[in-house]
Amino acid sequence: MVEPSGTEQREPTGWAFVRMMVREFVHEWRHPTPFPVRYLRCDDGCGRVTPHSSIQRIYTLRVAEREVAAPPAEAVCDECRHAQPRTVGDEITADVTVTCTGHPFRRFGSKRSRRTCGQQFAVPGTASSVLCPWRATSQPNPAPPPPANR
Ligand SMILES: [Zn+2]
Ligand SMILES: [Zn+2]
Repeated sequence: MVEPSGTEQREPTGWAFVRMMVREFVHEWRHPTPFPVRYLRCDDGCGRVTPHSSIQRIYTLRVAEREVAAPPAEAVCDECRHAQPRTVGDEITADVTVTCTGHPFRRFGSKRSRRTCGQQFAVPGTASSVLCPWRATSQPNPAPPPPANR
């Protein structure tokens, strides 16, 4: 087998990208912080109020104009992966507090802890499912729907 020469110097951009992702992941893992979970009505997707914990941004490269256009970030539905652009006031008000019954991942290894997470967080009562902002455990919304006369 002949080793290709110059592999140390010439790095494919793919590996640089992977390294960046790993660095971000390790940082997240060492400094667990609640990440923002937005509850939005997924109108064009599943039609329910669902957690949107990730955003996507599709950069379009216009070669002719030599510019990269960065459109507004789109919130991605955790249930159906439908992405919708954020609008002002689109977030559903969190009006009930639920306790996380999920088992967080152990700090080391990939097994889940036997302890329940127990974190409390506020969610809209209309949400079809809720996502714990600390350990990303998803569970059905156990909160009763808020009274209609409120
Ligand atoms: Zn959806
Ligand atoms: Zn939790």
